[in-house]
Amino acid sequence: MVPSPSGVGVQQHVRHVLAGFHELTLKGAHRGKFERVLLRNVRRALAGLPVAEISLPARVTIRFSEDVPWPEVRQRLGTVFGLNVLWPVAHAGHTFDDLADYCRAHAATLATGRTFAVRCRRSNKRFPLTSEDIQRRLGKILEECTGMGVNLANPELTVRVIVQDDGIYLVLARVPGPGGLPVGTSGKVLVLLSGGIDSPVAAYLALKRGVTAHFIHFHSAPYVGDASVRKAEEIVALLNRHQGASRLAVVPFGECQKDIVASCPEALRVVLYRRMMVRVAERVARRWRCQALVTGESLNQVASQTLPNLAAIDRIARMPILRPLISLDKQEIVDLAERIGTYEVSILPYPDCCSFLQPRHPTTGISAAACAAAEANVDVERWAREVQRQAQVVHLDPAPWPISMNLTPRGLRP
Ligand code: ATP
Ligand code: MG
Repeated sequence: MVPSPSGVGVQQHVRHVLAGFHELTLKGAHRGKFERVLLRNVRRALAGLPVAEISLPARVTIRFSEDVPWPEVRQRLGTVFGLNVLWPVAHAGHTFDDLADYCRAHAATLATGRTFAVRCRRSNKRFPLTSEDIQRRLGKILEECTGMGVNLANPELTVRVIVQDDGIYLVLARVPGPGGLPVGTSGKVLVLLSGGIDSPVAAYLALKRGVTAHFIHFHSAPYVGDASVRKAEEIVALLNRHQGASRLAVVPFGECQKDIVASCPEALRVVLYRRMMVRVAERVARRWRCQALVTGESLNQVASQTLPNLAAIDRIARMPILRPLISLDKQEIVDLAERIGTYEVSILPYPDCCSFLQPRHPTTGISAAACAAAEANVDVERWAREVQRQAQVVHLDPAPWPISMNLTPRGLRP
């Protein structure tokens, strides 16, 4: 066992895992739906592992039919928004005597400190002993069988016991979950995904608040290679680990960009591109019943993301544009991208459609009126229709999990 300050230590393999959720309890009457969706998402995240049962006596309770590597379970449950804490646990039976026997049998591995305290949570209110009874009685037994001393104020080891309807669990470790709300409980959005560093993180944060996401990517092929499309597909597959399969609209944007370049002042170009993207994205979003767009814009990160320029973009939008990164620094975004695993794909070099026909001096204070005047020379509605018509829809599954070397072939299910 590996000693853990908030549990008795986790073996490399686990048979039972409990997971807690927090915000769901705030949702009153909707709680039933939230819990159903959460369990479905847990089931999806664990697909392919030998799961015997997933239930919800109080917390999410997972039982595997054989031992499964904890790092793998932890990584997979780390994609399930709505879970705010994960406890690998040992099932110690159903009665206090079972618990006592379990602790005596494992005394050597439990003794990982000089002092300890027992903390008990009891959601099974029919259990004959109160939490305090269990703490006191188990404390005595552990003192005897491990030689550790009780220290309630400042213990080296906290032995956590959870009493649920389905039995008594001994907590081996406590690790934070990803937090947020279960994907599928907050509606649907369309993410404008560039393949850069920012928009995948924006998508992640939107998913974290419980939305389901589809994606749209604009590329400038044939003027620029289509490497950005492969990147977008790879990033969507990674993000899909949080939500299951989704759609990506792949949109050729080069001809429309060329028309904007030929007909409009150079300084307005990037904002005009973005306004066109929003027009096209809204058409796709309506068709796919998405209620908002999501972008990776962050205030003042680049010239097109100043308040006046964002306002000029918003002026033509008919649905909300969510910008989860609006107040994050670049370094914070990079840190998040590294943590969620999209950074490595995002930094692969590729020609972006926005670097195609990029203006030399983008302007920071563009008004919506100036954009509208420039667009008088471009048939924006025709372009939006035309570009949307040429969109190709790709259906993408979640990126497969690496197959663990520790998992026995017997444990792998098709
Ligand atoms: P990113 O790292 O997401 O590309 P960025 O900092 O490079 O963002 P911009 O290039 O100004 O910023 O793009 C702002 C936002 O516009 C992006 O985060 C994305 O949501 C959207 N966007 C930009 N280019 C594309 C594209 N080719 N396809 C789809 N959306 C795009
Ligand atoms: Mg970009």
